[in-house]
Amino acid sequence: MQIVCLDLEGVLVPEIWIEFAQRTGIPELRRTTRDEPDYDKLMTYRLGILRQHGLGLPDIQRVIADMGPMEGARACLDSLRERYQVIILSDTFYEFAHPLMRQLGWPTLFCHSLETDASGILVNYHLRMPNQKQEAVRRLKELNFQVVAAGDSYNDTAMLSEADAGILFHPPENVIAEFPQFPVTLSYAELSARINEAFAFLPSPF
Ligand SMILES: [Mg+2]
Repeated sequence: MQIVCLDLEGVLVPEIWIEFAQRTGIPELRRTTRDEPDYDKLMTYRLGILRQHGLGLPDIQRVIADMGPMEGARACLDSLRERYQVIILSDTFYEFAHPLMRQLGWPTLFCHSLETDASGILVNYHLRMPNQKQEAVRRLKELNFQVVAAGDSYNDTAMLSEADAGILFHPPENVIAEFPQFPVTLSYAELSARINEAFAFLPSPF
């Protein structure tokens, strides 16, 4: 009856685009929604840069596999999965996350997808639906699950508000200031403790 919804990037794994830009030495890929608020323009730009550098999906996945999850992420996730159902809600793409999911023991992941041509070059992206993090939490609650959600950034705040309890993990200062209603955690031990506490305070579902 209890589900934990976790953001992926910045919580269990590094920010994929930023880390990818560093590892490949392609600074243009550091561009984020802060620099280009139009997500479609940003993604079209990113796919164009990858194509220019001749980077196909297998090359990209090799780089991402080397990033690995953050230290302690797998242990934290495994211990949460012993107690709760865990669903990772992310705005990344299945094709990018795949090597990292292997290293995290194949947890359930809801995210978006990419389209490649026959040579493995990325030609398009497909968002499953708008506001999928918040929508997923809303629908889990409709199925009578109690939901505690955790994330690190702006794109998580709607999901945290929608959940029975929301927790921030390693958020930037501006998110802390703008969303003082969410407790802030800085380590996996703290995050797990807060999640347990949040469920303990929710009314018994029975
Ligand atoms: Mg994040």
